[in-house]
Amino acid sequence: MGEAAGSGLDALLRQRRREMIEWHLEARGIRDRRVLDAMDRVPRERFVPEHLARDAYSDSPLPIEHGQTISQPYIVALTAEAGRISPGDRVLDVGTGSGYAAAVYAAMGAEVWSIEYVAELAATGRRALDAAGFERVRVASGDGTLGLADAAPFDAILAAAAGPEIPAPWLDQLADGGRIVMPLERGLGWQQLIRLIRRGDEYDLDDLGAVRFVPLRGEHGLR
Ligand code: SAH
Repeated sequence: MGEAAGSGLDALLRQRRREMIEWHLEARGIRDRRVLDAMDRVPRERFVPEHLARDAYSDSPLPIEHGQTISQPYIVALTAEAGRISPGDRVLDVGTGSGYAAAVYAAMGAEVWSIEYVAELAATGRRALDAAGFERVRVASGDGTLGLADAAPFDAILAAAAGPEIPAPWLDQLADGGRIVMPLERGLGWQQLIRLIRRGDEYDLDDLGAVRFVPLRGEHGLR
């Protein structure tokens, strides 16, 4: 590709990114400035297969490898907003996949640990994060339903795969005031995105609406 064609594509992608922020995020109720600014800075085209770069900013999930998907931008924004991420927060991202959501949380100033069940995806996610300048995100390969005890406690545990219930280790590894955002399987083909906030020994639970995610596997997942 010549230089002119390359910069033409860059300009197009920048414009589509702006449109994503305005039409798919702000217009649908995302208000957290930190989320909007972060998503304006993360080049989503670096996290999708190369031939899909032009579609990187459509508001849909896109296929990555191993039958998995990169979550829809609106869902990443909703999860980040519900997770109330502040600079310096310790965040566990469950389901690295493409690495995009981890990059968004890191762009919000969080310290991010990301864990992925499929080893090959952990490796491609790692490469994409490095190529996009997010070398400081830690990526681990393993069962995220066990959490990541070595790096606990977390201010937020954010999952991109739907499980039957909140994995018990996540509750143990959540800081006081910490948030868990995850989709729960509700049967009959639907899932509910929930947020749990820990307040001492009590937990507040919010319903964030119906969603569609890939299954959460592993010990406390759907297996
Ligand atoms: N956040 C990702 C979304 C990827 S889809 C992105 O922005 O692209 C969800 C991912 O969760 C898949 O890659 C899947 O392999 C992974 N996953 C499923 N069960 C898991 C588990 N128990 N631990 C870690 N990752 C898991």
